[in-house]
Amino acid sequence: MAAPWEDVLRNEAAVQEAARVAVDAALLAGVLMRTEGEPNASDVVNYAPFTLLPSAVPSALFEQAYAVQQDFNLLVDAISQNKEFLEHTLASTIKVDDFTARLFRIYMQVLEEGLAQSVFLGINRSDYMFDRGVDGTPALKQIEINTIAASFGGLTSRTVAVHGQVLKVLGKSKEASRLLPNNPSKGLALGIAKAWELYGSPSAVVMFLVEEVQRNIFDQRCVENELWNRNIRVIRRRFRDVFEKGSLDDARRLYMDGQEVAVVYYREGYVPKNYDQQNWEARLLLERSRAVKCPDIATQLAGTKKVQQELSQPGTLEKLLPGRAEAVARIRATFAGLYSLDVGEEGDKIAAMAIADPDRFVLKPQREGGGNNLYGEELRQVLEKIRDSPERTSYILMDKIKPQPAMNYLLRAHSPLQVSECISELGIFGVYIRQGEEMVMNKAAGHLLRTKAIEHADGGVAAGVAVLDTPYLV
Ligand code: ADP
Ligand code: MG
Repeated sequence: MAAPWEDVLRNEAAVQEAARVAVDAALLAGVLMRTEGEPNASDVVNYAPFTLLPSAVPSALFEQAYAVQQDFNLLVDAISQNKEFLEHTLASTIKVDDFTARLFRIYMQVLEEGLAQSVFLGINRSDYMFDRGVDGTPALKQIEINTIAASFGGLTSRTVAVHGQVLKVLGKSKEASRLLPNNPSKGLALGIAKAWELYGSPSAVVMFLVEEVQRNIFDQRCVENELWNRNIRVIRRRFRDVFEKGSLDDARRLYMDGQEVAVVYYREGYVPKNYDQQNWEARLLLERSRAVKCPDIATQLAGTKKVQQELSQPGTLEKLLPGRAEAVARIRATFAGLYSLDVGEEGDKIAAMAIADPDRFVLKPQREGGGNNLYGEELRQVLEKIRDSPERTSYILMDKIKPQPAMNYLLRAHSPLQVSECISELGIFGVYIRQGEEMVMNKAAGHLLRTKAIEHADGGVAAGVAVLDTPYLV
């Protein structure tokens, strides 16, 4: 699985020179983030962290990940329409996890009132690692699927040119020409534009629901600009703005500052800290509206870790996707071992198994955004403490995926250049639209490769651990 530039990694002068070129190329290409010090101003920006060199990705696994994406789109959409499944699957979780419980309450409330929304837009990203099997053959294993606020589809479209230039500087033009073009933000925008069109009100706008702290604004602007290029108006608002100025008319059309909103694209709202009482009220208002929510609350719930674990149970996929045996097989092939910690004999056994051999597993709470999972000794301690309490049902247990590390340099502003042993995570963006019962779009929209040093068990780019990368297919 090695990339053909192991020789370069040991040539310090060449690496230093390439890194200088890389950073300037990244700034020129727009691989940008606002700074920690000034997260809401664009006066001072820096490059988003990225690898010096592209990372090797087995082409068969890359193709497999693309091939299963439409299946995952169908699956997420099916779950989002299956009240019985969501109710049953999340029953134990919402007893102990307040955040999931609040989302679930809004879900039930909206269903009771009856949905005003008839066009559904899903944008997700299914993430994988390449598990090294006993014989050394890597296998594609899903880490999770993100059904809300899946990010970096914009910035990642700009790393290809940067890595291409780095390879040329290093005398690897032939390899540079083999890097695949990639533009998820365009695919995401196409989905949003189509949903906007189907909503059917040409004067209505698309609203990006954004966080208070907006360091990753350039990633969002990539999608935004694609919409402006299609003459679709985009506004950016926070929950707070919606609370203060959002309203519904009799037909539950959503208005912000007097403008009708056709599509609400959430880049916010996936972790408890995004919400105070007012923000919950704003979320409810949005969910009750007829605007296309990307995602609606049901689709957000479909992306919980508990749902992921339930999907791995025998027979579940078959029930959710009846008559689609091939899709089910493709999906199942990507699953790692997932285990429920629900109260009962089975859960007791699983807890004991994890406590006895913590390095084999990852313990995951119902949280997004990186940095929440537990590993090794910490996993053992936490699980020991809660093994006899219902609190354990707020977690799921997963087999730890163990990829083959590779050497690379991680470029981060204000950090020294040093070689690290790294592992990568591949994400495939999915976009789909359903109008009533009919699927009118179902696509894979591009990919994202993120790479981190192996000493970090957890965490994404936004969490400051992983960096942007470009796959080099081998
Ligand atoms: P989050 O919603 O916080 O992104 P993830 O399930 O994606 O949660 O986990 C965060 C990170 O933890 C992943 O990006 C990956 O680096 C690591 N991780 C998660 N699950 C596993 C696993 N089963 N094996 C190895 N690493 C994992
Ligand atoms: Mg993740």
